[in-house]
Amino acid sequence: MSDALRDAGQLVASILFPSRCVACGAAHAVLCAECSHALSAHPAERGVAGVVVRSAGALDEVSRAAVRAYKERGWTTLARPLGRALAGVVPAGCTVVPVPGSRRAFRHRGFDAVRLLAERGGLRPVPLLRAVGTPLDQRTLNRDQRRENASGMFRARACEGLRVVVVDDVITTGATLAEAIRALRAGGADIHAAATVAATAFG
Ligand SMILES: [Zn+2]
Repeated sequence: MSDALRDAGQLVASILFPSRCVACGAAHAVLCAECSHALSAHPAERGVAGVVVRSAGALDEVSRAAVRAYKERGWTTLARPLGRALAGVVPAGCTVVPVPGSRRAFRHRGFDAVRLLAERGGLRPVPLLRAVGTPLDQRTLNRDQRRENASGMFRARACEGLRVVVVDDVITTGATLAEAIRALRAGGADIHAAATVAATAFG
């Protein structure tokens, strides 16, 4: 299904079945203005693989509900508020490279979640990474298992000398971002920064 068709379908559904905010239940919006604003309320920074990762906010009830509805239920109208929060922590002057979902996730959703989110946020993502292999669901693993599972997760197209910011939806252990950074460096990129919509508390 095309993005336009999917959005049109959701628009019709939202008229026939007035929506409620996925986070707080307020009427008439998939994510209300207050919850959209809350996505960027607590910016945070941490380091992964020698790169500063800026996050718009903490992974709290609002961002968790929004990301889940977007990725698991396919509510692509949420790509815009999530993407705007992301764009707020993406430095200018860099090539924006989204972390791709697995091929299995793409088949399941029919859209590339982080890429679409970046586009709707007004960024111009360049898909230099592709997922290889079929890693296990990172959420089911502990920190060490995640690192191992992430190893060899991505391949990058040749990107010699490109100044890159890597973007993802959520950072938890940082294993996935570290692997994306590793692959892009192997392709020759200069990783200037990374950015995510939300971050779990470090530790
Ligand atoms: Zn709300």
